[in-house]
Amino acid sequence: MEAADLIGATGGCLCGAVRYRLSAKPSDAGYCHCRMCQQTAGGPVMAFATVPLSDFVVTDGEPQRRRSSAFGERWFCGDCGSPLAMRVDHQPQTIDFTVGSLDEPGMVSPTFHIWTRSRLPWFQIHDDLPRHATFRPQTSGLPTGSERWAEGASASS
Ligand SMILES: [Zn+2]
Ligand SMILES: [Zn+2]
Repeated sequence: MEAADLIGATGGCLCGAVRYRLSAKPSDAGYCHCRMCQQTAGGPVMAFATVPLSDFVVTDGEPQRRRSSAFGERWFCGDCGSPLAMRVDHQPQTIDFTVGSLDEPGMVSPTFHIWTRSRLPWFQIHDDLPRHATFRPQTSGLPTGSERWAEGASASS
């Protein structure tokens, strides 16, 4: 699949109430092992990719939005609960959407891991991608204390 084909890629939630279309190629994709992603997904990890906010076009329905931390909000389907996207205050121009919600999720390959500090011990990483204990060092605009917040209220370690 050519990268250019990602422009116009579509996706949505499990029940189909919320649908979206990308009008830009995702610039970045990675795995997040933070506790909040684990709780949101009910699984060990989530995969996100990034596009400019204006290029994530909701074409059907309206995602529910809930603030999940002091600096971020998560978008999901209010009917079926599928996680669709995440926005953070320190990167207001972009949105991170869930790779698994794409109609063809194999089109986007994650290239890094973040928050491996809370990686589940039984979930082994067998790739050579860069791993970061918390955020990537080049993450712009992080608010003070964000590392603590991102671990989630129920983090045990
Ligand atoms: Zn739904
Ligand atoms: Zn996360």
